[in-house]
Amino acid sequence: MHTNITPQTPNGFDSLNLISPLCRAVNEKEYSNPTPIQMQAVPHLLKGRDLLGCAQTGTGKTAAFALPILQRLKENYQPVGRKEIRSLILTPTRELAVQIMESFEDYGRYLNLKQTVIYGGVRQEKQVKALKYGVDILVATPGRLLDLHNQKYLRLDKVEVFVLDEADRMLDMGFLPDVKKIHSFITKTSQTMLFSATMPIEIQRLTKGFLKDPIKVEVAPPSTTVDKIDQRVLFVDRENKGALLKSMLEDATIERALIFARTKHGANKIVKNLSKGKIKADAIHGNKSQAARLEALNKFKTGKIRVLVATDIASRGIDVDGITHVINYELPNEPESYVHRIGRTARAGAAGIALSLCDLGELGYLKKIERTTNKSVVMEKDHIYHSETIASKRGRSSGFKTRSTQKKRFYGKGSSSRKNSKPATRRGRYQRERPERGRKN
Ligand code: AMP
Repeated sequence: MHTNITPQTPNGFDSLNLISPLCRAVNEKEYSNPTPIQMQAVPHLLKGRDLLGCAQTGTGKTAAFALPILQRLKENYQPVGRKEIRSLILTPTRELAVQIMESFEDYGRYLNLKQTVIYGGVRQEKQVKALKYGVDILVATPGRLLDLHNQKYLRLDKVEVFVLDEADRMLDMGFLPDVKKIHSFITKTSQTMLFSATMPIEIQRLTKGFLKDPIKVEVAPPSTTVDKIDQRVLFVDRENKGALLKSMLEDATIERALIFARTKHGANKIVKNLSKGKIKADAIHGNKSQAARLEALNKFKTGKIRVLVATDIASRGIDVDGITHVINYELPNEPESYVHRIGRTARAGAAGIALSLCDLGELGYLKKIERTTNKSVVMEKDHIYHSETIASKRGRSSGFKTRSTQKKRFYGKGSSSRKNSKPATRRGRYQRERPERGRKN
């Protein structure tokens, strides 16, 4: 084999045959090698194949579809007519839509293609204006897209590439009928991609209707993320979870905590409970308006609130650096959700701590999680709500580690027996590298 072309900037992306404006943009992002999903998907997508991708955020999937879309739009360039759209990316939440749009802007910065993003919860005028003369790339949430389509502010009959992102979340959020309707308006499409972290039966059916002979790529979230996280479990009776959470948050080393609840109602209850304890928190979930969600997220990002409570669905768009702790107020029943949740800490190479409150009914979930991640979660029994009954039911055979062999410490206001004594140190209980206890410096 020989080649007479020496690449100017040797980079793992060279093998993907991307056009130079894209290589330049990727270089500027300082990506040195394609991620596995990019490696597997890009060559096929450049040839125009349909794709079924089993992958979550964090795997580099946005570039995996954005780079080939940009390249094909450029290579087969044709000016868009009024209200026309050449490629459509549907995604469930506003936060994700904005994130995807930003990626397209980054990767496509030297291509001069027209792109915009639309989502609900805000006034439509600006979006209508941006669509007026057509766009090459439109990132949208389903509700607003249908709404503007019904009002005839956009046309879907010229869409060449259609991407359905996070299909399983669309299903969870009740968007599937909208998605099917949108798909029925896309009559010309030559390439379709569908991404989903899980493949419930409804999504499998959808893939049959949407995709023609797709290539299938499947990637697990990077396991190194999980490895970097200090994971602990606190066994506690269900009725004591609220009190335990409050006392945990007295620890000042928990600088920025993302708390997961299983339901929207549960998330609201946690916020209420914390606010009674003068802990400022906000919730982000599907029942909140887009404006309220964004506001909560901004307060969290800027440090105005230290605690954000989220459901799994709403957490999809959370890309906040500096989350020191993820707290699972309830364990998820799917191990993949656990991996996704705890991956919110340990972003951008940082380390993080994940604390899970586990009641008796959740022991089965914990087992499934440990089996999937192939890692045992260390028991943290250093709290007054520790339930030995639950701990003993966990099973001793697999050599689970216990973090604290020290005497049980008390903390939180619930500790009446230690009223006048200094509560166990409020600093550092949930730190990675704990300084020696009992010493003040
Ligand atoms: P995504 O899964 O698309 O949300 O991407 C997750 C993160 O990985 C984003 O911050 C991207 O900028 C980043 N990323 C995507 N591709 C690469 C790559 N090849 N090398 C390094 N980082 C990447």
